[in-house]
Amino acid sequence: MRGAVIHAPGDVRFETVDDAKILKPTDAVIRTAVTCVCGSDLWPYRGVVPTGHAHPMGHEYVGFVEEVGSEVTAVRPGQFVVGSFATSDNTCANCRNGFQSSCLNREFMSTCQAEYVRIPNAQGTLVATEDIPDERLWPGLLAVSDVLGTGWWAADAAEVKPGSTAVVVGDGAVGLCAVIAAKELGAERIIAMSRHESRQKLALEFGATDIVSERGEDGVARVKNLTDGIGADSVLECVGTEQSMRQALHSARPGGNVGFVGVPHDVAVDGQELFYSHVGLRGGPAPVRRYLPDLIDRVLTGSVDPGKVFDLTLPLEQVAEGYRAMDERRAIKALLKP
Ligand SMILES: [Zn+2]
Repeated sequence: MRGAVIHAPGDVRFETVDDAKILKPTDAVIRTAVTCVCGSDLWPYRGVVPTGHAHPMGHEYVGFVEEVGSEVTAVRPGQFVVGSFATSDNTCANCRNGFQSSCLNREFMSTCQAEYVRIPNAQGTLVATEDIPDERLWPGLLAVSDVLGTGWWAADAAEVKPGSTAVVVGDGAVGLCAVIAAKELGAERIIAMSRHESRQKLALEFGATDIVSERGEDGVARVKNLTDGIGADSVLECVGTEQSMRQALHSARPGGNVGFVGVPHDVAVDGQELFYSHVGLRGGPAPVRRYLPDLIDRVLTGSVDPGKVFDLTLPLEQVAEGYRAMDERRAIKALLKP
């Protein structure tokens, strides 16, 4: 089979890789329906995360079950399935507490930009749809497996409540999906921080009520201005840089909460400042599995359409162009079709 392999920064190739096969009785193998390039894939692509040796790429997937291991009874060959970038048995203590992305048997997905994918912990990870969904819904279901699940976690961690004010820092696919989540969870005012016109447009379409294009302390000042000078109830940090984290912490009101889901790179939080801010802080890899049944249902019924974050569709074999387009910010998110 063929899949994407990163050889060095800026060098992603579509080439022959080892066939996906059942290695443990808890595995499944799926045939990829659609996959995509993630904003976090750009960290190694840009050399921020070093690439020691060539390795496969991709952690987002929806597909058709091809084969299951002897201990997998929850899904069967032929079914359409949605999963998560973090696999989980869904039975251990952390899973039962709803933090499946801290599963004691967790394995992160890392080979999904390929024709077939091995899914560890398939029994607890995969959720099958009742029927094969219409192909037009595949991008939305793919978004559920990572970016919507992660945006949802940002809103959940920041305790977005009906009638509240939410700020979303970051206008990548996760940030835009965080706008959807804030809206669905009842936020009345949603302030999206974005300086790109096409992304601002999508944020408004997804439910943002205000756009702030300033960054840093200027952005914070605008947010304060829009919130009677005290800050927002909930801030959803979807970038992972020092600046975005500072912007998020300073935009929350005393007693408010920041949910941070951008993987932090060189982010340091000042303990004393946090102490006196009275701001609650929670983040981490999203427990997408907890949200899957609900989010799949919202996509299938058409109440949300996160598939709109894909503004570029390419054949899987042109995966390298997907990376280039996202690196050069010509695309928000690239959808790849085998
Ligand atoms: Zn577990």
